[in-house]
Amino acid sequence: MSGSHNSHSIYSASGAHRWMACPPSAHLEQQFPNETSVFAEEGTAAHDLAEHKLRKALKLRSRKPVSKFHSDEMDEYTDAYVEYCLSLIEQEKEQCKDIQVLIEQKLDFSDFVKDGFGTGDLVVVGDGTLHVVDFKYGKGVVVSAERNPQMMLYALGALSLFEMLYQIDRISMVIVQPRVDNFSTYEMSVDELLDWAEGELKPKALLASKGEGEFCAGDHCRFCRAKNQCRARAVKNLELLKYEFADPSLLSDDEIAEIIGVADELSKWASDIYTYASALAINEGRQWDGFKLVESRTRRKYSDEKAVAEAAKEAGYSDIFNESLISITEMEKLMGKKKFKEILGAFVDKPKGKLTLVSEADKRKAVDPVAAEFQVEG
Ligand code: SF4
Repeated sequence: MSGSHNSHSIYSASGAHRWMACPPSAHLEQQFPNETSVFAEEGTAAHDLAEHKLRKALKLRSRKPVSKFHSDEMDEYTDAYVEYCLSLIEQEKEQCKDIQVLIEQKLDFSDFVKDGFGTGDLVVVGDGTLHVVDFKYGKGVVVSAERNPQMMLYALGALSLFEMLYQIDRISMVIVQPRVDNFSTYEMSVDELLDWAEGELKPKALLASKGEGEFCAGDHCRFCRAKNQCRARAVKNLELLKYEFADPSLLSDDEIAEIIGVADELSKWASDIYTYASALAINEGRQWDGFKLVESRTRRKYSDEKAVAEAAKEAGYSDIFNESLISITEMEKLMGKKKFKEILGAFVDKPKGKLTLVSEADKRKAVDPVAAEFQVEG
């Protein structure tokens, strides 16, 4: 399921999609810390719970994990995963009496990728087909099992464990991602898998292990630890600037279509760089030429609506409700700015804005991040 199981190998199965597309990224990434996120921690908690439930359902020993992330939702989705696994196991038992079921099995694919291993959430093997199932708790990106390198690496690891014991012809790879109702299955023959391993995987893994090959930016960059400072990604995105000099003076339809095609990646890149630069400015006091930190704008709020209504009524204003108390702006219009301040000034709060990185030209006053505690905006 997750990278956490593969953290000791720099050529992890979970990162295979990236390092196969951009082999030198495996080495470049090592310069950056492997930061965990709340989503990754939640995924690990879901994974541990799912494993526990599956072991219990198969009458194996297991201790229930404890986590602050457990919720009814997590219960429901881990149940869906377990239900899927049990039905697969039942189905396989009907085909072959002597199946093997492995949960959280370390899968070693170092015959193809230096030091490569991963952990298979569920492996079911009998005569004929080897099944590899991966549970994903994330919901941000729908993951397909179709020629998915992570799954194919797991399959290679599982195959090397069992090929002497069973007659395996086909591989079935399943991604169970219940939060987005994704049960993605892909089947291939063992011959196809081995052709891919020799023809595509091995050469790319060799390049990755030497830190060689071409940098290649694309969708896969979003999971790369080098993504904020990577030059190849910047060059690819900045290619758009060539349109500044396009002649004639208006963009053609073809050019606009091309820009729309890259706009999504371009905006993700810009947002990554902005978040990275903001965090350094706020947390480490880094100065960026032409930019400063300011407090973001915030909306005024009534501190106590009951007290506001009473004070307004006492001052002779009764037309102060729509369905609820009218807004501060409406109240100010009703009373006039001066009176509003006199009557209700004590009941209006203006929350502190978060620090945000803006151009020097911005009218707001620059703020020294050391002087106060703020959080990164966004
Ligand atoms: S950000 Fe993209 S192009 Fe750069 S090293 Fe990572 S995967 Fe390769």
